[in-house]
Amino acid sequence: MAKKEELEPCVRCFKMPDENDKYCTDCGAPLQNRCFDAHGPLKKGCSFVNAKTAAYCAKCGEPTLFNLHGLVTPAYPTASRPNVWLGKFL
Ligand SMILES: [Zn+2]
Ligand SMILES: [Zn+2]
Repeated sequence: MAKKEELEPCVRCFKMPDENDKYCTDCGAPLQNRCFDAHGPLKKGCSFVNAKTAAYCAKCGEPTLFNLHGLVTPAYPTASRPNVWLGKFL
């Protein structure tokens, strides 16, 4: 396939985005289900692009953008995950 990234409609309102859009210009939904784990002073960040149905990042376990925007419903919304940071620094 010579075609580059194929555009997919917004998961919330089905508006077709422009080629370089990262968020829907109609409803603000993220167009890619990226990992929410951002770059910070102590962490590298992840930004792994997950499947559209993923509530948590397949790579690092942080919530995905779709999860935070309410576009996917986690199977275990109140599940608590082990606190990696406390385990590392205490
Ligand atoms: Zn939208
Ligand atoms: Zn991640």
